Amino acid sequence: MEHRPMKDVALLGSTGSIGTQTLDVVRENPDKFNLKVIAAGSSTDLIRKQITEFKPAIVIMANKDSAQLLAQEFPSIDVYSGKNSLKEVAGSCDIIVNAIVGFAGLPVTLSALNQGKILALANKESLIAAGPVVQKARRTPGAEIIPVDSEHSALHQCLRGYETSYDAPSSAVQKLILTASGGPFRGLSREELKSVTIKKALNHPTWDMGPKITIDSSTLMNKGLEVIEAHELFGVPFGQIEVIVHPQSIVHSMVEFADSSVIAQLSLPDMRLPIAYALNYPQRNEAKWGAINWSEISKLEFEKPDTENFPCLKLAYQAGEAGQTAPAWLSAANEVVVDAFLKKQINWIDIPHLISLALDKYDDLPARDEDDIYAADLQARLVTKQIMESK
Ligand code: NDP
Repeated sequence: MEHRPMKDVALLGSTGSIGTQTLDVVRENPDKFNLKVIAAGSSTDLIRKQITEFKPAIVIMANKDSAQLLAQEFPSIDVYSGKNSLKEVAGSCDIIVNAIVGFAGLPVTLSALNQGKILALANKESLIAAGPVVQKARRTPGAEIIPVDSEHSALHQCLRGYETSYDAPSSAVQKLILTASGGPFRGLSREELKSVTIKKALNHPTWDMGPKITIDSSTLMNKGLEVIEAHELFGVPFGQIEVIVHPQSIVHSMVEFADSSVIAQLSLPDMRLPIAYALNYPQRNEAKWGAINWSEISKLEFEKPDTENFPCLKLAYQAGEAGQTAPAWLSAANEVVVDAFLKKQINWIDIPHLISLALDKYDDLPARDEDDIYAADLQARLVTKQIMESK
């Protein structure tokens, strides 16, 4: 068997849903991956267990108190805190897994690519908010994004052999077809949607994920963000990216080619499959996560998304088409209102309306560099909070 050198991995967001599943992949492959760096926000208890099991050389906590505590408990480990530490670690690893939630993941995405590293990207918000800036960073020799999001992993797998990039999309590729489970509220009327609770919104029918993406899935904003993510990753125009609801979450996405042939990627819903794909790329992982027992699958259904009752999908297409800092506004406004919903400050039904009001105030500024993105994010958050306060 071919011997491959161990790869040093930085896992940022190690305590979350993607983070802990990435650790399953690392655990399963002790001869392939050395977990060198882990990072989290403030989950001290869980990261303590991870330090004991994986013995990383570096730990980064967003929360300063957690970092101080861990530094005292583990004197042989380098413990840091802050955004700059997140930026610096990429240089010392071969693969950077960005599993941080939200805009806080931006420094990781940009620093990994600027340092010419392999970026296993779960943190879609950074790519959406900073698309044009990420495209520049992606041109650094050695830099490569391998998507972890299941739909984009599926597209990546379907497109293998059809080199397509933002600069040079393949003319053989006619359409990207992103599948969506439809979330917990698929089929509900507007009247019924008025009374949905946090508990119900957090109860996703097919995936077990962190709270922010679970709420995004319930509003279809997650699919909207994924449309922009697909555009940024594969360079396909928005008019050639279609969303189709597929409640079983077995077909993870599809590519239609010029001759109308469609290639799809299928598996049971298990995020360890796309995570393992990203970590092992271009090889395949040997563990069989998401393996299908074909005799147990009775049907695969597909239907049009309901964009009247779930307008976030339309808002995302509009922001994507507008380009520049409009997707940064969309993503920031969404983060603010989802946070407010999780804190019981607003109702679920208000989410799209508030985002739409925030986007009405979009100032049309360009996305030339990192500073522009931070400024757009800040402004969009400010505007969204003002709109919420005035209600
Ligand atoms: P979770 O909420 O479960 O986890 C988020 C992780 O980010 C935690 O480890 C958290 O640490 C850490 N974190 C938060 N803020 C910071 C910060 N400032 N610095 C460092 N770490 C921080 O989210 P998910 O795992 O569900 O999602 C992560 C990303 O992956 C999101 O962008 C999501 O859209 C994407 N994704 C997730 C999927 C899923 O199945 N979960 C599927 C596809 C994409 P702490 O625990 O200390 O708060």
